[in-house]
Amino acid sequence: MKIALIAHDGKKADMVHFLSGFRKRLISTDVELYATGTTGSHIEKSGIPVKKLLSGPLGGDAQIAAMVAQKELSMVIFFRDPLDKHPHEPDVQMLMRLCDVHNIPLATNPASAELMIKQLIAKI
Ligand code: PGA
Repeated sequence: MKIALIAHDGKKADMVHFLSGFRKRLISTDVELYATGTTGSHIEKSGIPVKKLLSGPLGGDAQIAAMVAQKELSMVIFFRDPLDKHPHEPDVQMLMRLCDVHNIPLATNPASAELMIKQLIAKI
């Protein structure tokens, strides 16, 4: 099972905090985590293994969108910062659109991510 993780700068700490609550299960179960570059570095520093893609503004969101289109992902967790502007907003929109096109679960805040990840992890 592959899960993609993205957090805008104002939400990176929230992502690390969120994942720490599932650390044991994420490390011990058959879950592969993918993240955009800087988000991935923060996650790695917290001791959770993750495969790092390009940084978001350099194409990381687009790489995750491609994985969605190829149906490689079970879920996308994308903690967006609704109070900030982002140079790669078109990529962000593309990623969310493709999640809807391909019916891939997309959580954009910790409350929804918690509900979804508990359900997914329970299946493995
Ligand atoms: P980052 O990208 O993890 O490289 O910061 C996230 C984003 O802003 O899309």
